[in-house]
Amino acid sequence: MIFDALLLDRLRSANNVVFFTGAGASIESGIPTFRGGKDSFWVDFDVETFATLDGFLNNPKQVWQWYAQRRLQIQGLQPNLGHQVMARWQAKASKVTVITQNIDNLHQRAGSQAVLELHGNIAQYKCVRHHPVTTSVDLTVSEPPLCPQCGTLIRPNVVWFHEALPASTLNLAEIASFESDVFVSIGCSMDVQPAASLPYLASQCGAYVLQINPESTDLDEYAHCNLRGKSGEVMPKLWEAVWGECL
Ligand SMILES: [Zn+2]
Repeated sequence: MIFDALLLDRLRSANNVVFFTGAGASIESGIPTFRGGKDSFWVDFDVETFATLDGFLNNPKQVWQWYAQRRLQIQGLQPNLGHQVMARWQAKASKVTVITQNIDNLHQRAGSQAVLELHGNIAQYKCVRHHPVTTSVDLTVSEPPLCPQCGTLIRPNVVWFHEALPASTLNLAEIASFESDVFVSIGCSMDVQPAASLPYLASQCGAYVLQINPESTDLDEYAHCNLRGKSGEVMPKLWEAVWGECL
């Protein structure tokens, strides 16, 4: 794979790099994209039931158990080479921010620090009034326990449909995009707002925008460079080309 010399220069000299990941970054770990179809992961997934607050309040036990199963499934999967390269990049370069739309916790398991999770984390919990679960609550039970602070149901800490993104996280993601010298969009379908606006914000503020995706997206014509391929294949080669060392 031959990389554009300008891209390599910009990555080597960047003071601020953003890696922005979507569902495509986790496919190689075994987590299919939502649009990917009817495999075991998304089978019987009904958006209104499993991805809205009303669905949870109407079927708390069913939704709780569905998320518990998905959480266990994800725990049995491993971060892929793409996640590993991003974690290593964070350790090597001056400032690297990882922003993700994924809820699978795989960046952290690969070693990334301070990941900005726009859609929450399936391994974390909060109550329906958004108190984070920090005290000892038995989460292994078959139906949602009650919040020790307010007595409402405890739910997964993921962003459901009709819910706003966590404001402070989105704010930090916007600042990181604004300040970035190179913004790398990886496996993002670019059709979920407001997250999809981040590469445009970065570009308007002078960043070089690189997109890594096997498929074309709305970002294609806007990105300075498009690399067609999977994260776990492209990222190790990019690492080697930029840093001159093997993984
Ligand atoms: Zn509460």
